[in-house]
Order: sequence, then structure tokens, then C-alpha cells
Amino acid sequence: MITVDALTKTYGPVRAVDGISFELAEGEALALIGPSGCGKSTTLRMINRLIEPSAGRVLIDGVDTRSIPPAALRLRMGYAIQGIGLFPHRTVAQNIATVPRLLGWPRARIAARIEELLDLFGLPPAVFAHKYPHELSGGQQQRVGVARAMAGKPAVLLMDEPFGALDPITRARLQDEFLAIRRRMGTTVLLVTHDMDEAFRLADRLAVMEKGRIVQLDTPEALLRRPASAFVQSMVGNEDRGLKLLSLAGVAALMRPAEGWAPAGEGTFRKAGGQEALAPLSASASLREAASRLVLTGVDELPVVDETGNLVGTIDMARIIAFGGGRR
Ligand code: ADP
Ligand code: MG
Repeated sequence: MITVDALTKTYGPVRAVDGISFELAEGEALALIGPSGCGKSTTLRMINRLIEPSAGRVLIDGVDTRSIPPAALRLRMGYAIQGIGLFPHRTVAQNIATVPRLLGWPRARIAARIEELLDLFGLPPAVFAHKYPHELSGGQQQRVGVARAMAGKPAVLLMDEPFGALDPITRARLQDEFLAIRRRMGTTVLLVTHDMDEAFRLADRLAVMEKGRIVQLDTPEALLRRPASAFVQSMVGNEDRGLKLLSLAGVAALMRPAEGWAPAGEGTFRKAGGQEALAPLSASASLREAASRLVLTGVDELPVVDETGNLVGTIDMARIIAFGGGRR
């Protein structure tokens, strides 16, 4: 567990980070989110001692990081930043091997770890292990940057806008990949971003920062339902806050039994007494997708199927609205 306690950084009269406290549990992903200049990167860099705090402290599993030499500390903390400085004259494999080598891992274990990470990030080792950074696309370089940061199985992965400079499609794909990898590996993550959608997607909790302070630290659902101030509300989304809330929840949790519904051919279903044969929603769809389909179809109830196309329930607009009101 990481404990950040009243962490502060001043530059002359500027309080870049102003008494920040939070805890990061093992396996948790926390996002620091806020506008440019609010102190996110400074906070991250004080945690791995790239910057020394003016006041406050950071504990890893109860041990004050001031008692750990910075070089040793950084071996235990992966660090991935935007436009990641991959070593240009080292191959992908050599880049990823950096920390494991410093940790003195045996050769075979390093080789296995490189292969595992390249596979995980969708970079077939036979093709990519021996390439140099300049032979990779931006998205591939970012993947290698994150893989390198994860290579030594760090206690925590610090990420500063790691998917920043990418086109939206590559970025979304990398976010999905990263989410799957994190879930599989149980990596503890502290992520800095100014992109609220990215934070909602990748983090379990979000610390919203304003002028060096945390103004609200909560789950995505709590931030959307109960923003603590006008500032937080503007960060989480003014007009589409309700729709974002619907993106967080799945149809499966709100379904009702599909009584009176029957197959009507070609994968559609019809309600007893109903006119229309309706194409079903997937049980894995979000409530946002469900609301969208209900609107587009112009009905107030749709059938829901599992992955194999079996009817498993129905979803209706009244239930979606009740969820928005917190009355599920
Ligand atoms: P963010 O990552 O949220 O965009 P930073 O942590 O980089 O913000 O910066 C927070 C504030 O501290 C900004 O006002 C920035 O100008 C100031 N700052 C950061 N580094 C320095 C420095 N080395 N000297 C003086 N001011 C700095
Ligand atoms: Mg920054």
C-alpha cells in the first residue's frame, strides 16, 4: 500500500502541490485528474523521488520513502510517461530488460518476461523483440514504454499521460489492452491524466485536483452522482453527466425476466400481443447503449440475450431512469 501524507511542493511563492493526502491500496488504480498546471506530475514525481517534497511524506507498506535510496525506490516503481524516452540505441527487448537487469534477474527469467509482456501488448516477440524504437509506430512505442515500466513487476506503476500523444482510435485500443493486462496482473497503478474519459475507463477511483489540492476523491459513480463543487462538475461533464453515469453500469444488473417474450425469427424476439419483432441487446451492453437503442427503436422495452443468443431478460426505460436517480 502507498500512503501519501500531506505532500507539498513549493517553488518560491508557488504551491505546486499543496498538502495532498491519499492512500492507494494494493491492486487499485487511482487517477489524478485535473487541468494543466494543477500539480499532477509534480505529485507523481515526488512519489518516486524524481522531485524531493518540500513537506509531507510518502510511505510504501509503512516504510517512509526517504529511508529508501532513490535508485532502489525507482526499481520498485514503474514509471511510464508520455512520449516515453525509450533508449534509441537499444532494441525493444533490451529496453524492456532494463529494470530486470538492474534487479539482477537471471537471463532466462528476463527473456521469459520480455516474451510475456510483448505477447500481452500485442507485439509478437518474433517480429518486435529486435526492432529499434525508430522502427515502431507511436502506438507501438507507447506499448513498449508501458511494458518496460511493468517489466520488473513493480509494487506500483506510475503513469503520466502515458497514452497522451496518440490518435483517438489507437488510444482507445491501448486503454482497453492496458485495462485487460492490469486486471490480469493485478498491478497497482497511479495514473495522471487530464482526460476524464480515460480516468473513468482505467481507474477505480479518481482524485480530482485543483490548484495543488485534491478537491474530491471518489469512485466514478460517486463523482458523477455527487460532484462536490461546480469545478468538479465541470470536470466530470456538465451536459452529459447522466449519460456518463449510464456508461458505468451494465444492462445485466437491471434486467427483468422476459415473461411473455418469444423468438420471432432471425435472432429477433416479440412480446406477447406486440407488433414488432425486435433485435435484442447484449447482456454485456452498457445502460448508455441500451438507452440509445431504446430511443432509436422508439420502444420502451427491449429483449436482452447472452453471448450465445439466448433470451435472458428485458430492459426498459423506466429502470434506466430509476438507475440514474439512484433508485435501482
Ligand atoms: P500538471 O502535471 O498538473 O500539469 P505540474 O505538476 O507539472 O502540473 O505543475 C504544477 C505547477 O507547478 C505549475 O504551476 C507549474 O508551473 C509549477 N512548476 C512545476 N515545476 C516547476 C519548477 N521546476 N519550477 C517552478 N515551477 C514549477
Ligand atoms: Mg503534467
